[in-house]
Amino acid sequence: MDLKNKRVLVVGLGKSGVSAALYLRRLGARVTVSDARAGEALAKEIPALLDAGVMVETGGHGVLTFRRQDLIVVSPGVPLSTPEIQQVMALGMPLIGEVELAFQGLRGRVVAITGSNGKTTTTSLVGHILEHAGLETKVGGNIGLPVVELVEGSTEKTWSVLEVSSFQLETIETFRPHIAAVLNITPDHLDRHGSFENYAAAKARITENQTAEDFLVLNAEDKPTQMVAAKTKPQIYWFSGVRRVKQGAFVHADGVYFLAKEGGTPEPVMPVAEIPLPGAHNVENVLAAIAMARLAGVSAEVVREAVGTFTAVEHRLQFVRSVRGVDYYNDSKATNVDATAKALASFAGGVRVILGGKDKGSDYTELLPLLKERTVAVYTIGAAAEIIAAQIGSEVSLTPAGTLAEAVRMASAEAKAGETVLLAPACASFDQFTSYEDRGRVFMELVAGL
Ligand code: ADP
Repeated sequence: MDLKNKRVLVVGLGKSGVSAALYLRRLGARVTVSDARAGEALAKEIPALLDAGVMVETGGHGVLTFRRQDLIVVSPGVPLSTPEIQQVMALGMPLIGEVELAFQGLRGRVVAITGSNGKTTTTSLVGHILEHAGLETKVGGNIGLPVVELVEGSTEKTWSVLEVSSFQLETIETFRPHIAAVLNITPDHLDRHGSFENYAAAKARITENQTAEDFLVLNAEDKPTQMVAAKTKPQIYWFSGVRRVKQGAFVHADGVYFLAKEGGTPEPVMPVAEIPLPGAHNVENVLAAIAMARLAGVSAEVVREAVGTFTAVEHRLQFVRSVRGVDYYNDSKATNVDATAKALASFAGGVRVILGGKDKGSDYTELLPLLKERTVAVYTIGAAAEIIAAQIGSEVSLTPAGTLAEAVRMASAEAKAGETVLLAPACASFDQFTSYEDRGRVFMELVAGL
């Protein structure tokens, strides 16, 4: 798409919105940005935009702003249900997201990873393996750099490894990864997607433009992702931590294997014991990453070496320290029930878990079996505390702590040697923190101060 002198509106001034606006200016477009937040909240972003010749509208979207545009680029943080967006969609105006905008300019090959949980870990792993193999690798998307930042400098040899969220996939058109993966689909963000079906459908769009020359990697143990396989054209590879798959990566006895072709002989990749990340869910992430790396042509030996030197991404079941025999783990990124379940399942027992934050309409009763089996106490924090107490409070030992500081204080005072204190809140952070990173950092500081 030639955007020179075209009128383009960027809606939402998050990190990717700002990058998209500046990228569009470099393409010669006439760019306006619009954000519902007040100007003061955007004081950091605005000067660079004005300097680049972008028109800036803050504090709401003007009625006329959306008219007479040649293209509208919507940020992933802006719900498509926003009335102005609904109107332009009804009028059939061209509307895409930043991932689609970037894809149209990106050279080389794209690996894209989506799923409810494990995206960042798996994307980082794939990037790490490809880099280790000496391939020209760039990592971005929902992690690190916005995809438009990868466009300039990309060549036919580049591998762009992208983490893509359901919100980013809602606004693609021609986006076609050479290798795509759907790690799992469990309820998340239902407050914005409306229903589980809509959410799953958004994730499935990762494969909608793939052809028979492309690859799709799916979780053999996750029903909703299996359904993604039904209507697509790419070659499908599976991963499973518990059984041999037709074609793909799997665990057998104590080893990880890759089976390149149905009916072939599985090739040993590495012992499971060499996987440096805790928990069965991380074995799944590693399996998915191995399948993608093998499909990108990296040898099993190099894959083994690279996986062995990978370290956990911050705030993802990250070991903080031991104090008087009690281990502290920061899993602030556990912002939904499934991630918390996976964290709890990574420990044999004796866990004191901190739950709560901003509720996303989740069903916390799903945690009950694991809570009863593995935890000795639950401490609640934040806005979701009452909802959580109402759903599970009568079945487990639950103490309202209010704040994270109070939860850490209580847990550390009550914990006995050999137990674990785990921050895996199953909620978003925005009620008390600016982000899950902020929440994780505060937790680590509190633990450092014990
Ligand atoms: P995402 O980018 O999809 O949010 P992360 O790698 O950042 O994924 O991990 C998010 C949370 O989910 C962390 O709490 C992590 O421990 C947990 N997690 C990681 N991989 C998986 C998985 N395969 N299944 C379930 N939970 C996972």
